[in-house]
Amino acid sequence: MLNFRVPLADMRFVMNEVYDYPAHYRGLGGSEPATPELVDAIMEAAATYSEEVLAPLYTPGDTEGCHFHAGEVSTPRGYKAAYQQFIEGGWQGLSYPAEYGGQGLPMSLNLIKSEMMGTANWAFNMYPGLSIGCINTIMQYGTESVKAQFLPPLVSGAWTGTMCLTEPQCGSDLAQVKTLARPLDNGRYALSGTKIFISSGEHDLTDNIIHIVLARLPDAPAGTRGISLFLVPKFKVLADGSLGERNPVHCGAIEHKMGIAASATALLNFDQAEGILIGEIHKGLEAMFTFMNTARIGTAIQGVAHAELSHQGALAYARERRSMRSLSGKKEPGQAADAIVWHPDVRRMLLTQKAIAEGGRAMIYGAAQWADRMFAAAWAGDQQTHHLCDAELGFYTPILKGFLTEMGIEAAQLGIQVLGGHGYIREHGMEQIARDARISTLYEGTTGIQALDLLGRKVMLQTKGRCVRDFTHRMWLLARGALLSPGFRGRWGRSLAWRALQWNALTLRLMVQARSDADQVGAASFDYLMYSGYVMMAYYWALMAERAQQALHSGQGGQSAAFYRAKIETAQFYFERILPRADVHHRTALAPARTLMQMHACPLQSD
Ligand SMILES: Cc1cc2nc3c(=O)[nH]c(=O)nc-3n(C[C@H](O)[C@H](O)[C@H](O)COP(=O)(O)OP(=O)(O)OC[C@H]3O[C@@H](n4cnc5c(N)ncnc54)[C@H](O)[C@@H]3O)c2cc1C
Repeated sequence: MLNFRVPLADMRFVMNEVYDYPAHYRGLGGSEPATPELVDAIMEAAATYSEEVLAPLYTPGDTEGCHFHAGEVSTPRGYKAAYQQFIEGGWQGLSYPAEYGGQGLPMSLNLIKSEMMGTANWAFNMYPGLSIGCINTIMQYGTESVKAQFLPPLVSGAWTGTMCLTEPQCGSDLAQVKTLARPLDNGRYALSGTKIFISSGEHDLTDNIIHIVLARLPDAPAGTRGISLFLVPKFKVLADGSLGERNPVHCGAIEHKMGIAASATALLNFDQAEGILIGEIHKGLEAMFTFMNTARIGTAIQGVAHAELSHQGALAYARERRSMRSLSGKKEPGQAADAIVWHPDVRRMLLTQKAIAEGGRAMIYGAAQWADRMFAAAWAGDQQTHHLCDAELGFYTPILKGFLTEMGIEAAQLGIQVLGGHGYIREHGMEQIARDARISTLYEGTTGIQALDLLGRKVMLQTKGRCVRDFTHRMWLLARGALLSPGFRGRWGRSLAWRALQWNALTLRLMVQARSDADQVGAASFDYLMYSGYVMMAYYWALMAERAQQALHSGQGGQSAAFYRAKIETAQFYFERILPRADVHHRTALAPARTLMQMHACPLQSD
């Protein structure tokens, strides 16, 4: 049985000692100052709710799953009551403006709260999680009357939202969207078509569900330039905010999935359902992608969440389970055998999980500060700052989403391995984590799509390598002060400095290769993404080691000396045993596309 505890000490270390969140929050302004006392109280309350309400529903929700009957979906036992508590806690509105009933706090707090709740129970977290994309879209593109009508119940959590992009013939390639939106006399549109795989598309947690839908007008140009965005409520909403007649958008089925069984994934049929245009005609994809970075970082959290949960379960087991003796002599002579935590290979697995969870957390909390600045600018109508922060976040996003979710799956698999055969058995919960983690590299853009976005769009097309130069400059600034230091500090300093050079050189070589072979971008993109992830995580591990060392030296940190020592030791482990993987990705990224493309296309065989 899993016994999840929110890693508050680590979260506080990253927030307060690595990034100085208190100063960051003071700099943001905003309607509700996020004072350290307030932030602390919110974190404590979110931790209690996650541990006491959501975590106990994790395994039963998986066993029971969702139920579908005649178009209606019911969530597993206990989910309704837990969601009611979610509403009463005001959790959905944490980071939304007070004028819509929110608490006006920075968006990073919402991400951090999401990490806690998602680690406790990712499937539950999907219900309020999908509303965020819906709220953000309405907030940015809705007319004043649409905002007034739809935002208060969404922000309170009384209604939930969805994002309806995927159709049977297309998921990654939204240029193929077919759902049709026919103009009506009342200024609205009648939507017809089928959307599949819609998370939270139908459920029994709220009275209404607001769908944000990609569709085309009858005269729309083909491709991505002909897609518009619509708001389609499950129940029409009257002028006074009360619910009107049922809109003809019906759930035809829910999917039977490998994991996240308690999250309803719906097939939705739109049969002349009435919708409201959001934003400009034909510019729907642009609007949909405005806050995509934040949504994708929300999914990157899933990598950290599963690594953390799996690590907690595996560590507890490894301390108790006994097998043979430690190679360097008995560690627990009074026992029949030593605990498996003494074996180097078990430590390899546990430390890999720990390095992924804590390194990933540091990456996300760093990016979350850019999200704070971006949302503060968006709500204040400062377009220039909004775009600037969005562009910065745009570089981090594919790396965080692609790399951290791949690593989360690795961590979850290691969790099973630490438990041996018992890891494969349901009652320990480790196999559920691995099943739940598997979706994270598929939705919100597959790893392949993130990799193309990073190398093809962000690095080559949009910035000609500037985003890498900017980030590696930061690496160099950190490394510079450590280069000549003795011991580990000097080692990470030299390693970071070398990787900063290597990352730029790799980028340049790929840009040159791409000129003579267009397939090279696609051939290199996955390895380039993973290389970037390992190197970026190294920067954050160095940063954490530096802060931990300073705290040990000054004796003034907020955590125990043992905590700081473990941080430095995990950083050492990362630099010696995880970062070298970057070399393989470096070499593979530079291999010519030929070995991938020379074989006859379909089926991949030589005849
Ligand atoms: C549980 C679950 C929940 C979901 N929730 C939602 C939701 O709420 N809303 C929603 O709209 N959708 C949702 N989806 C859909 C999800 O976003 C898509 O499945 C995903 O985007 C991939 O699309 P696809 O399945 O059509 O795969 P495809 O696009 O057909 O891709 C198949 C494979 O080809 C690769 N590929 C495709 N194009 C390229 C290319 N140009 N270059 C390189 N590789 C490429 C992909 O990386 C992938 O490996 C959900 C899916 C699941 C399973």
